[in-house]
Amino acid sequence: MNSSLEQWLTDQLETFKSEGVYKRLNYLDSPQAPRVTMEGRGEIIILSSNNYLGLSNAPDVVEAGKDAIDRFGAGTASVRFICGTFTIHRDVERELADLVGTESSLTYASCWNANEGLFSTLAGPDDIIISDRLNHASIIDAMRLAKAITKCETTVYEHSDMDDLAAKLQAASSKRSRFVVTDGVFSMEGDVARLADILQLAREHDAVVVVDDSHGTGVLGDTGRGVPEHAGVLGDVDIITSTLGKALGGAAGGFVAASAAATDYLTQRARPQLFSNALPATVAGSALAAVRHLRNHPELVATLRDNTRYFREQLMAQGFKPLEGPTPIIPVILGETSKAIEMSRLLLEEGVFVTGFGFPVVPRGEARVRCQVSAAHTREDLDQALAAFSKVGNRLRLI
Ligand code: PLP
Repeated sequence: MNSSLEQWLTDQLETFKSEGVYKRLNYLDSPQAPRVTMEGRGEIIILSSNNYLGLSNAPDVVEAGKDAIDRFGAGTASVRFICGTFTIHRDVERELADLVGTESSLTYASCWNANEGLFSTLAGPDDIIISDRLNHASIIDAMRLAKAITKCETTVYEHSDMDDLAAKLQAASSKRSRFVVTDGVFSMEGDVARLADILQLAREHDAVVVVDDSHGTGVLGDTGRGVPEHAGVLGDVDIITSTLGKALGGAAGGFVAASAAATDYLTQRARPQLFSNALPATVAGSALAAVRHLRNHPELVATLRDNTRYFREQLMAQGFKPLEGPTPIIPVILGETSKAIEMSRLLLEEGVFVTGFGFPVVPRGEARVRCQVSAAHTREDLDQALAAFSKVGNRLRLI
């Protein structure tokens, strides 16, 4: 490689290390589950995974992936419109649409891809995208891409601030289309979009509502149908994007759920559909089994809620002050990045894996460790993790 680039890269990596922001990868040598085998450390309790329903290692989900690979082979070897679409893609897309309450859905290799493909295809030079300030990086980059490709306008409203959203919508009244885009669940805070209010404003201003429900699908609402079910507006959201890489089996993949016309138009025009391979059949098979598993076991969602409530209450009883919220994402704010990283390191020494997040992922001074509870955690798992929190919290004089 060009030697000046190589030198720059090496210097940057040294800077990351000296600033304490260098990320070291932990290698797991077992399936994703409440307890995993971490290379060099042995058994570890995971409180840092999006495996909210515990389905990534559920026998029916794994078996369905194996059946699909046997039936369809390793991959599509083509983009979808040429010869890369299997019947299992249609099956999973039908059931995903049904799950999230839309007419149709279209899968992508990731939700990142789904978001990138969405705005750069549906928006045009006379349109505007209005985005919550705390939206996920994939939405931010999707907007940048849409702006570069289509010359649409983009703007941001303050986090969950309906007055600011109303003002931005008012200011955009001359646009052809107004897209309002929000995360369903904000993954660093664990709070939920004010979806009913957003929909009401959108209707008043003739705007299209897009919800990225990656952390809500399978997690929120009485039967796990996501933030629209939680907010009592199932079937009312214009466009939902979500991932298959979290609650729905955790492999990879994402989808856009919307009207049949919208998904058909994306099939015709979205560049990630036209120029990139479809989901591997094994991933489609596992995701389909995960959707069916959720439908047959809605009690998993209640277990997830109970586990979340228990863990949150016990943390508070120890003296921690986790952020409020109805989701299984429980952030504990610690202040400086170094404190969050130290806490995460000490917890790992106690056999509990919780990631610490600092600037620039979260605002300066609001570094945190973020716990994520799963329906698969037993009380024993949670109590053991809580004992580690108590020990480390006392050692760092946090409680
Ligand atoms: N959108 C949100 C809100 C997310 O939290 C994530 C993943 O962290 C993504 C999109 C990306 O999903 P995927 O891994 O399917 O690309």
